[in-house]
Amino acid sequence: MATIYHDNDAHIEVLNNRRIGVIGYGNQGRAQALNMRDSGLDVLVGNIEDDYAIQAKSDGFDVMSISQVAREADVLLILIPDEVQPAVFEQDITPHLNAQDVLCFASGYNIFFRQIPLPDTIDVIMVAPRMIGQAVRQLYEKQEGYPCLIGVDRDASGNAHATALAIAKAIGATRLGAFESSFEEEATIDLFAEQMLWPAINRLCMLYFEKLVDRGCDPDIVATELHLSGEFLEIARAMITEGFFKQLKLHSHTSQYGQLSRGDRMIPDSVVNEADAVLDEIKSGEFAKEWKAEQENGLPTLKALWENVQAHPLSEAEARLDDLRRIVAKAHLDT
Ligand code: NDP
Repeated sequence: MATIYHDNDAHIEVLNNRRIGVIGYGNQGRAQALNMRDSGLDVLVGNIEDDYAIQAKSDGFDVMSISQVAREADVLLILIPDEVQPAVFEQDITPHLNAQDVLCFASGYNIFFRQIPLPDTIDVIMVAPRMIGQAVRQLYEKQEGYPCLIGVDRDASGNAHATALAIAKAIGATRLGAFESSFEEEATIDLFAEQMLWPAINRLCMLYFEKLVDRGCDPDIVATELHLSGEFLEIARAMITEGFFKQLKLHSHTSQYGQLSRGDRMIPDSVVNEADAVLDEIKSGEFAKEWKAEQENGLPTLKALWENVQAHPLSEAEARLDDLRRIVAKAHLDT
């Protein structure tokens, strides 16, 4: 059972007299910077001079270069994409860190896989919202919360955990709950969803399309049944509103029987073994090594994989049905 912290367990005063530096003003950066300022904290934004910086200035923040914020702030929220963090640290952050600074990451990846060398004198913590940036801001404004995971990698001050909780409260997460976690756990659940859950769902959707089209069904009708009708979204929504299994009751008895009786056959032992292999690659750091090499080589495999899916007949059917997709999307977004 997870330990979950709420507003009463966290004290924003821990951050009094500490300057908060938000590095990056994108999805998470903007939302967290605004929430922290509205929680009464002194927030600086670090970004290069471009549209993000213009947005931060028009939101009323002091905007400086990343290296300047690294020098001036005491608590740095690292809210730039994970892939660019190692190079940005080497060039603009690590040389300017002060002893007793706090580094707060929103993802476990770079710390768990040791992609960023850091001094021992600082605290290294994680506050990772389980929510997209826009909703992080909207929920805060509505006085509502959202889940986040917190963790401590390095506790030089003896105060790292309290600081993580204070940040979780200042960005509005403890209104719903901050779950005690770790960099390892956050990186693992994130990567395993990306490498097992979503690709399995994607691949099964493609297989559904391929098999039915092979057996003579019209590709446009199959694509509409698959995702363009919006039923997919309704099922996902019902998993939250009704419950993961209980939503099955919204389907006919024939559907319930078909789903429950055939599920195991769709996931044979070979798939279970592959899921374990993918998890082993994540936990051993083998994937992190492979991904680093792919990036250093200019992403040749990623580009080739993209070309494959763009050439798939499902992409062609979707292009033909673009008007329908827009209408269904609007209908579902409006509900
Ligand atoms: P974004 O892609 O929205 O970040 C954009 C920001 O990063 C901009 O300020 C951009 O500035 C800056 N940036 C991009 N490239 C560089 C670079 N090479 N050098 C310096 N700055 C750069 O990131 P997210 O908000 O999506 O993610 C931030 C962190 O939050 C990540 O660790 C992510 O894993 C985590 N996270 C994200 C969630 C989400 O919903 N997106 C959810 C939970 C956690 P510019 O391009 O102007 O330099």
